Amino acid sequence: MKRRGFLIVLSGPSSAGKSTLLDMVLKMDAELCYSVSATTRSPRAGEKHGVDYFFHTEEHFMKMAGEGALLEWANYCGNWYGTPRQYVMEAIAEGKTVITDVNIDGARQLRRTLPEGVFVFLMPPSLGELRKRIVARGADSEESMNMRLAAAAEEISAVVDYDYCILNDDLEKAARQLLAIIWAERCRVSRMEFPAVL
Ligand code: ADP
Ligand code: 5GP
Repeated sequence: MKRRGFLIVLSGPSSAGKSTLLDMVLKMDAELCYSVSATTRSPRAGEKHGVDYFFHTEEHFMKMAGEGALLEWANYCGNWYGTPRQYVMEAIAEGKTVITDVNIDGARQLRRTLPEGVFVFLMPPSLGELRKRIVARGADSEESMNMRLAAAAEEISAVVDYDYCILNDDLEKAARQLLAIIWAERCRVSRMEFPAVL
């Protein structure tokens, strides 16, 4: 019995906890692959090229987009972000479960390109808690934090376009819920190929 690969898209406002949750879940599920995005934003302290993002100039990013090397791309708070096409499509073709962290504009594009994908929204407990987390992370300038918080309300209202919503009030619980979604989706009969003898 073989399982077809598929894409899981994780979205949520900045500081909802997407990266932290993905780090946990990727350690708990050896079969899960993370699609590293391309971006024009500057690296934060500790971020590594090829691990957290592929950090590119705007010129290089636009060249990739123009050549069809990105499955989707979007501008978020003044920087470009995009999903490399080749990695995702090859991993799916190999039967893998690929997970990617994209904003709501990117998710809308992926819904059209890969309708068999699974769309998961990570919800913060409140806008007040989101503000606390973005300040506590300490990775963004005052201006960037304000832009990100201003975008959050519209992002949260896009939850209705997703298949699943996970409330991130407790990281361990959120990780268990994401793993449950991943396994339920892997077990869908529509993703299986059965040998002719069955
Ligand atoms: P995102 O990737 O969604 O922008 P991060 O994963 O960088 O968010 O998380 C933002 C901050 O919130 C980090 O400092 C992280 O440790 C913290 N955080 C994440 N989840 C929780 C949680 N459930 N409770 C408290 N703090 C959290
Ligand atoms: P950050 O700068 O905090 O790492 O990410 C900012 C936003 O960009 C988040 O909403 C995140 O989901 C989104 N993002 C990260 N990678 C991609 C991508 O490949 N495509 C799109 N469209 N958004 C992305």
